[in-house]
Amino acid sequence: MCGIFGIIGHREAANLTYLGLYALQHRGQESAGIVSSDYAALHNARDMGQVADVFPEEVLKRLPGDAAIGHVRYSTAGTSDLANAQPFRISYHSGEIAIAHNGNLTNAGRLRRQLENEGSIFRSSSDTEVFVHLIARSVFTSTEDGLVDALKQVEGAFSIALITRDKLIAARDPRGFRPLSMGRLDGAICFASETCAFDLIGAEFVRDIEPGELLVADRRGMRSYHPFPPAAVNRCIFEFVYFARPDSRLFGQPVSLVRKRMGAELAVEHPAQADIVVPVPDSGVSAAIGYSEKSGIPFEFGLIRNHYVGRTFIEPQQSIRHFGVKVKLNPVRELIKGKRIVLVDDSIVRGTTSRKIVSMLQDAGAAEVHVRISCPPTIGPCYYGVDTPDRNELIAANHSVEQIRRHIQATSLEYLSLGGLRRAVGGGEGFCTACYTNDYPVPVEAEDLSQLNLFDKHRG
Ligand code: AMP
Repeated sequence: MCGIFGIIGHREAANLTYLGLYALQHRGQESAGIVSSDYAALHNARDMGQVADVFPEEVLKRLPGDAAIGHVRYSTAGTSDLANAQPFRISYHSGEIAIAHNGNLTNAGRLRRQLENEGSIFRSSSDTEVFVHLIARSVFTSTEDGLVDALKQVEGAFSIALITRDKLIAARDPRGFRPLSMGRLDGAICFASETCAFDLIGAEFVRDIEPGELLVADRRGMRSYHPFPPAAVNRCIFEFVYFARPDSRLFGQPVSLVRKRMGAELAVEHPAQADIVVPVPDSGVSAAIGYSEKSGIPFEFGLIRNHYVGRTFIEPQQSIRHFGVKVKLNPVRELIKGKRIVLVDDSIVRGTTSRKIVSMLQDAGAAEVHVRISCPPTIGPCYYGVDTPDRNELIAANHSVEQIRRHIQATSLEYLSLGGLRRAVGGGEGFCTACYTNDYPVPVEAEDLSQLNLFDKHRG
């Protein structure tokens, strides 16, 4: 997963990109990067870590110009190291370009092998680098035409932002797997993975980039192209379930309202005799509110999340029960004790966290824990840009709901049906639901099946 942002025609381009990325931080915390343009040259800064750490003021000052693109990364293909941090910047016969990509290509392994056989030298293990090689080798000399030529050869999911010295280009793959929206600020044009980035910088949301659309913006204006053959649209339904921020407007709908509808559908499909509805924060909050409103069972913040948990912390030497999850979540005993609880979360992946949360609630005195999940069982990994483990690690791929219930030791366990999820997203046409159905709209080539180990045997 990743977040991308781009802006052209604003004298504070790099600063605004920084803020845009800050709002998109939930989409990737491994690395962050910005490339700016001042007509004369591209300037870049990228590093491992979160946006605020990668861009102290002195670094931002080294990014002049009125156009910029940025990227926050969570690796789904390629290792987590600096070589794979984006945007990728290159110089080639037609000038300098840099590209930021959200999504996952499904034929990157084969394309890379072909390019390497023909002499290309890759400097990263990310599938995104395939784009720049294809552009550089295109028979078309303009960047626009070279990009279209490249995009026609790749398959899978891409929402991209590309910058040259004088242009900003945004594109979305024909199936529209990943989101990408356009905004406007003081006459400047901007693009972002999610609209929450526009809210932070005070930009007005204009519209989504359409699936298969390519927008070229320069300092004079903007042109729209549809260079790809038409395809069925397959927007990622999991963006609504978990990934996007609830304050974003995604694929034409407000995420928080869609999540509340998922909770309401869940309450109708799977009622429970209970005293309180408790969300797993933050991912289950909106759905839990929907469940509570529909069922009439009072909502309580029975679990409190510590938002300051970093990637690593020093664990105590003596073993503390449930330490790993407790450091992040703590039950409010006074609310939990003696209560029959409906515990709402967005998904169960491996089942490890859910199991710990249920037993933590039982330790806190819960009388019953009825787990309700606001989507169907996750039975298939994503090859289009969401970081999911291999199929053999997905608990629902190999176990029945009753087996999972026993594993997580819940009083009852129920999932929202696919029909319920489709209703919640407003009809459900034009979505990719492969993680719930194993019905993959774009075939994945063998070399790209193991996304994280795409080009490296070990994840860094
Ligand atoms: P577990 O019970 O260990 O399977 O963990 C489930 C938790 O992981 C839920 O609270 C989800 O919000 C969260 N989750 C679901 N999908 C993902 C994902 N692709 N990346 C990270 N966390 C996720």
